[in-house]
Amino acid sequence: MAFRHEIEALSGHAARVNLCFQCSKCSAGCPLADKMDLQPAQVMHSIRLGREEAVLNSRAIWLCLGCETCSARCPQQVEPAAAMNAARIIALRRGIKPSVKEIGVYYRGFVDNMRLNGKIHDASVAGITQLLTGQLIESLPLAWKLVVRGRVKPPPLPLGGGRFRRLYNNVLAKEKGH
Ligand code: SF4
Ligand code: SF4
Repeated sequence: MAFRHEIEALSGHAARVNLCFQCSKCSAGCPLADKMDLQPAQVMHSIRLGREEAVLNSRAIWLCLGCETCSARCPQQVEPAAAMNAARIIALRRGIKPSVKEIGVYYRGFVDNMRLNGKIHDASVAGITQLLTGQLIESLPLAWKLVVRGRVKPPPLPLGGGRFRRLYNNVLAKEKGH
């Protein structure tokens, strides 16, 4: 399947890549455009050109917040946010490591937390991310301030993840069947 078609199928046909006429309104409104190696309009153009490696190895797809400002601004009803999300899924399926390590670790921690608790305990996910990316020590003063001010709730007992694990495993089995 062509890369563009793969992106469109995974985005639920929201990406509509071929409708993009490169006006760059999406890039102009993106809060993280100045940190991205490919701006949202460039991601869309690269997808159309079939530049898979450039898109899947970009920092842009991992820096994307999913805020959907780009999609809201697009005069063509193209959804770059959906395309970014689809590109992340394809990258992971192909075993391509996230170009922004911290975000890959955060996503992993998020899913593991759901598998354990059935809901997110923010402090655990943040703590694991800081630990696995070697930033725990420098984060400790801020973490301590949050604890002192009562902003960190204790983690729940790891008893609530059963339903999420069943759902998660069903999706994995379904994906392997394709
Ligand atoms: S705003 Fe829409 S049409 Fe314009 S460059 Fe972005 S995706 Fe393409
Ligand atoms: S969804 Fe992603 S690409 Fe779109 S404006 Fe937000 S951060 Fe930028």
